[in-house]
Amino acid sequence: MDRMKHDLLVIGAGPGGYVAALRAAELGMNVACVERESALGGTCLRIGCVPSKALLQSSHIFEQTLSGLGEHGISAAAVECDLEVLMARKGKVVAELTGGIASLFKRARVTRYEGTASFAAAGVIRIEGEVTCEVEADKVLIATGSQTATLPGVELDHDRIATSTEALSWREAPEHLVVIGAGVIGLELGTVWRRLGSRVTVLEYMDTILPGMDGDIVREMQRLLKRQGLTIKLGARVTAAGLVEGMPVVEVEGEDPIKCDRVLLATGRVPYTTGLNLEAIGLATDERGRLTVDDNYETAVAGVFAIGDVIDGPMLAHRAEEEAVACTLKMAGKPGHVNYDVIPGVVYTEPEVAAVGKTEEALKAEAIPYKKGQVFMRANSRAKAGGHIDGRVKILAHAESGLILGAHITGANASELIAEVALAMEHDLTCAQLCATCHAHPTLSEAVRDAARATTI
Ligand code: FAD
Ligand code: NAD
Repeated sequence: MDRMKHDLLVIGAGPGGYVAALRAAELGMNVACVERESALGGTCLRIGCVPSKALLQSSHIFEQTLSGLGEHGISAAAVECDLEVLMARKGKVVAELTGGIASLFKRARVTRYEGTASFAAAGVIRIEGEVTCEVEADKVLIATGSQTATLPGVELDHDRIATSTEALSWREAPEHLVVIGAGVIGLELGTVWRRLGSRVTVLEYMDTILPGMDGDIVREMQRLLKRQGLTIKLGARVTAAGLVEGMPVVEVEGEDPIKCDRVLLATGRVPYTTGLNLEAIGLATDERGRLTVDDNYETAVAGVFAIGDVIDGPMLAHRAEEEAVACTLKMAGKPGHVNYDVIPGVVYTEPEVAAVGKTEEALKAEAIPYKKGQVFMRANSRAKAGGHIDGRVKILAHAESGLILGAHITGANASELIAEVALAMEHDLTCAQLCATCHAHPTLSEAVRDAARATTI
């Protein structure tokens, strides 16, 4: 059987894989992409970023309509939420976006293989799907992403004791939902189901929510999320969860067991390389299941590259996309670079949390001299007019140079506001330069300018 031959074969069509395939095609390569799911877009589009944000948006509107209209003098009677319609909307958003990638593939002449890829030999990939075949490629890019980490003792049945994938599609709000892990997934999906009517208990092993984020910000968020009705138990180490007479019971070290209706396990994600048959090319993963790459994103096996969640780094869609661009540019002999010091992170709770660069704790630990500029949203006219008074902009600048070292924002549109600071950091702007730029009034972005200015005083 003649094998198809490509310059580049990409395994996985998440934000790492599909962006790499499109960019490589633009750079003139003959590219193919293998994806085992019928929809393109990976975790991000099918069961991650996109559906979770659709549910956050719908549930936010519901909560606002239920309890946020009074202060505007607006009343609405008999406000109800049809979960079936809400879920159908989420499905439509996902379908439109994943379908969009299929169109982009066609337009860019990326060959699409539907099936599961495994290495048969160096440069030879076996694809098992409706049709089984082997293809050859000069270069292979592994972008197989990640999956939910399991927790010893927690018996996932993917229904009552579930991962984020199932929690994005429940047909009714659990009466009592226990979330294991106060990380990004736990807080975002915990918020969705609380808004949709569940009593939500979040159990976190550490003594803080969102470990690793700036201390001022997590303390503020802890208070705000509690005020919204999330029960957050810190220092709670879950040792087991299983079904007793069909209902979940969660065991927490030193505490009484917790009975509930559903459990969401959200204690992190792990790289996914299952079934790739890496042994066939003599490629091993590290102790945490990750593939190790060099500065060109090439693994220890020449011609085999890896990007995204499957390698070390923050498991974020935009990080995978950045690596896709840099990796394919380098494959084409052009300069490509990812600035890992300037990768924003966002938690889409209410208010949103957004961060880029170093936390205040990290600056102290590294003995870097810094100045802190902080502005509270309640002092910003647009925030006040819009009724979004919770939150702050905190900017950390080098004490001598004024260069921005980190920014931590809570508040409405924090996810958008962080982009200005990231741009400034990427281009080595000082706080003085940032606030020398005219910002429209009244806007939330004035709070960014004012926090930057506060570091210069
Ligand atoms: P993935 O998106 O995981 O794609 C990998 C693809 O490879 C999958 O489609 C898989 O089917 C395919 N695959 C695997 N093995 C094979 C094989 N052998 N053959 C063929 N195909 C294969 N990040 C953000 O930046 N913002 C967010 O708001 C956000 N929200 C999230 C919400 C949730 C609930 C979850 C779970 C994650 C979220 N993330 C978010 C993280 C984000 O989804 C990931 O960081 C991102 O998808 C990683 O991209 P990737 O291309 O590396 O892998
Ligand atoms: P996470 O690492 O953000 O949080 C996991 C939490 O579980 C941590 O706080 C950890 O201390 C806690 N934990 C671990 N073991 C525990 C135990 N035995 N008992 C109680 N708590 C325990 O992981 P996640 O929330 O599952 O998210 C996975 C990945 O997906 C993250 O890397 C994140 O970057 C990505 N993601 C990003 C977004 C976003 O960008 N908005 C949204 C969702 C997911």
